[in-house]
Amino acid sequence: MSITFGTMPHICTGGVTAAVEAYSPAGGLAHGSLDATAYVCPAHVDTARAMWTEEGLTPFTAQTANSTTRCGAITDFRQTTDTPA
Ligand SMILES: [Zn+2]
Repeated sequence: MSITFGTMPHICTGGVTAAVEAYSPAGGLAHGSLDATAYVCPAHVDTARAMWTEEGLTPFTAQTANSTTRCGAITDFRQTTDTPA
């Protein structure tokens, strides 16, 4: 399993209170595979959910007390499909 760390395009110093998880269908379940998680402050929960929806994933907002991650941090569990330019 590869893990990629990234960030959302917005700049924010808000405290992280939510982990917006992104799921894709697997095994006949809409939430079958956890593909990525975005850590956000309350103001950016909707931004993160919209981001996953646009990528064709199902967002699920979970509460978190992760105070060491800045708003907009992304942990991506998907296999990278990037091809060299
Ligand atoms: Zn924020």
